[in-house]
Amino acid sequence: MSAHPSKEKTLVIIKPDGIQRSLVGEIIKRYERLGLKLVGVKMTIPSEEHVEKHYLIDPEWIRKVGEKSIGSYKKKGIKPPSENPEEVGNSVLERLKKYMSSGPVLAMVWQGNQAVGIVRKITGGTEPLTSDVGTIRGDLTIDSYKIADTDDRPIRNLIHASGTLEDAEKEINLWFNEKEVMNYRLVQEQILYDVNLDGILE
Ligand code: ATP
Ligand code: MG
Repeated sequence: MSAHPSKEKTLVIIKPDGIQRSLVGEIIKRYERLGLKLVGVKMTIPSEEHVEKHYLIDPEWIRKVGEKSIGSYKKKGIKPPSENPEEVGNSVLERLKKYMSSGPVLAMVWQGNQAVGIVRKITGGTEPLTSDVGTIRGDLTIDSYKIADTDDRPIRNLIHASGTLEDAEKEINLWFNEKEVMNYRLVQEQILYDVNLDGILE
C-alpha cells in the first residue's frame, strides 16, 4: 500500500537571492502557515557539480526548461533568443550553476498532504513577472525572462521547489541523508488529518 497522502515530502531551496534579501523568515512562514511540517533544514553553499546533479535528476529537464522559456517569449509576442529548446536549456543550466553556488542557500524538506503540489502552488510560476499575486514569487520579487536573458543570467526567483513526487524523492536524497530528515508528530496534524476530530471536547 502506498503511503497516506499526508506523509508526502518535497524539497524547497531558498536560493542565494532569497538569503540576500533577508526573506528566510517570510518564506518559511508562508509554508508553515499552510499546515506543512518542516522535517529537514540545512544551510549550505552548494558546489557547481552539486547544482548540476540536482537539475539533471530529471533527464527531460533541459528540454522542458528550454520549451517553457521559448513559449513564454512567444506568448508575449517577443522573438526568443533561440528556437532550439536544448540550446536554451543548456545555457540556463550553466547560468544556474553559478547562481546557485554564489552563496549560502537554505534547503528544506516540507511534509504534508500532497506537499509537492501545494508547495508549487504557493511558490508560484517560474517567472516572477507572471507568477500569481499571493504566491511567494509573485509577491516578493520582480524578475523576468527578458531582463535575465538580456543580462545573460538566470531568473532570480527566490526558490526551488520539486516538480514531481518522483523528483522530490531523488532531490531529498541528494541534499539530505536519512538521519537529517526528522520523523516526528506535530500536534496540529490531529486537526488537519484526524478522521473524527473526537479529541477536542472535554
Ligand atoms: P525551480 O525548479 O527552481 O523550482 P521552476 O521549476 O519554476 O523553478 P525550471 O523550469 O525548473 O523552473 O527552471 C529552473 C530555474 O532555472 C528557474 O527557477 C529559474 O531560476 C531558472 N530559469 C529557467 N528558465 C530560465 C530562462 N529561460 N532564463 C533564465 N533562467 C531560467
Ligand atoms: Mg523545476
